[in-house]
Amino acid sequence: MRLEGKVAIITGGASGIGHATVQKFISEGAKVVVADIDLERAEKVVAEVEADGHPGQAVAAQVDVSVYDQVEAVVRRAVEAFGKLDVIFNNAGIAGGKPLLDHDPAVDYQPMIRVDQDGVYYGILAAGRQFRDQGTGGVIISTSSIYGEQAAELAFTYSAAKAAVISFTRSAAYELAEYGIRAVAITPGRVGTPIINQFSEELRTTFASEQLRNKLTEPHEIADVVAFLASDEANVINGTVVHVDDGYSVFKKRLD
Ligand code: NAD
Repeated sequence: MRLEGKVAIITGGASGIGHATVQKFISEGAKVVVADIDLERAEKVVAEVEADGHPGQAVAAQVDVSVYDQVEAVVRRAVEAFGKLDVIFNNAGIAGGKPLLDHDPAVDYQPMIRVDQDGVYYGILAAGRQFRDQGTGGVIISTSSIYGEQAAELAFTYSAAKAAVISFTRSAAYELAEYGIRAVAITPGRVGTPIINQFSEELRTTFASEQLRNKLTEPHEIADVVAFLASDEANVINGTVVHVDDGYSVFKKRLD
């Protein structure tokens, strides 16, 4: 129960990594706002939490993280429902991409930047203001990607947005330390969520082979790390990137 008494917002909480993190946070005693653009699925996650024997420990909220007012409203919702905010997990995101020279900026650049980059900035800003006003400090965890630290095929926009998440994390940790606020970014590798599961069996096998255990990461394995990072046990992890990629970023596969 290392998150006992903590209140958290988890964006993208209706699916994949976010969903697994809601379950983990609840099991560790946190109260959680399951914030997602898909309200119906967020409500299903809350119903699941209730059915698992945790009534009143989670609420659903609809948010489009690319709109600041909506992110601020979710912060208000957390305070209304549970009296305060301790943790925000800026995790909502979209993936995909085209070759750069085929881009239509209005389709292939701006919408993804709004969600994957602006959405994290808004989460940091809205939660940071709440933490400052409460005078309690707080923790900001944001989901970057292995692609935030490298160039990759069909990922021009995604890589830029995920690199910004790492930069935001460093700057937020630096600027907000005086309020007792900590910021950490995580870089997942290949995680078995709808983002990856939409691809062919063959491609998923290739993705798995890029990690040292030769398997896709399970969403709950990422959630375990996020719960640790949100806890007081991780107080010295600040302004940095935690690689949750099963070795993806540190080795190059041998050629057969
Ligand atoms: P997912 O598609 O299962 O979950 C993403 C969630 O975000 C969905 O519930 C979706 O409804 C929500 N969402 C999308 N746009 C939104 C918006 N504008 N406002 C609010 N919610 C919105 O995907 P996932 O794999 O769990 O991805 C979670 C995060 O992890 C993303 O930021 C993704 O880029 C990152 N990531 C995933 C992988 C992977 O291999 N799956 C690897 C690296 C990074």
